[in-house]
Amino acid sequence: MSARLIIVGPPGAGKGTQAGRIADAFGVPAISTGDIFRKNVAEGTPLGVEAKKLMDAGEYVPDELTNELVKSRLAEPDAEHGFLLDGYPRTLNQVEYLDALLTEQGEQLDAVVQLVADQDALVERLLKRAEDQGRSDDNEETIRRRQEVYLDQTAPIVGAYADRGLVVDVDGLGGIDEVGDRIQSALASRGLTAGV
Ligand code: AMP
Repeated sequence: MSARLIIVGPPGAGKGTQAGRIADAFGVPAISTGDIFRKNVAEGTPLGVEAKKLMDAGEYVPDELTNELVKSRLAEPDAEHGFLLDGYPRTLNQVEYLDALLTEQGEQLDAVVQLVADQDALVERLLKRAEDQGRSDDNEETIRRRQEVYLDQTAPIVGAYADRGLVVDVDGLGGIDEVGDRIQSALASRGLTAGV
């Protein structure tokens, strides 16, 4: 089946981990703009050089750059029958851009999964991840800034999707399997069943 899904949630809510699992279950690619930026940073591309400064400060990469990047990624063959977007859209401008892109192709979103979790629990989780993965944007100051930017810029996009009845709220605190099962049953209750 095809599935066009988005996962949103504050930094540290476990989006990346769950995105991979949902995407595998639905047989669609998990597309993370954060991962694409990190790959560019690692390879030292011009995009990477520009993105790194912003990422390290906890700020967003400009919409024009991010939108273009997503457009070309969605044009790849593996995304023809669906995708799971992780970390995009993050601003209202990106929501509008994605809407236009999908409309152009006669496609529409099926659901927006929102992982909900307590802020302080997330800071703790992120500091632990910084230790484990050595991410340079995971120090306490940057984490707090990313949370602020999230609340300011990204929380409103959930409102925009909620108005269209697309948002599925899932409690993001708990074990990986536990949260994964919650997501699958929340999607199933909307008629979106993986693996069929
Ligand atoms: P993430 O791994 O999704 O937390 O993203 C890490 C960082 O990459 C963010 O803090 C931003 O600096 C940048 N980034 C990722 N996705 C976007 C996006 N959709 N728009 C702007 N910046 C982004």
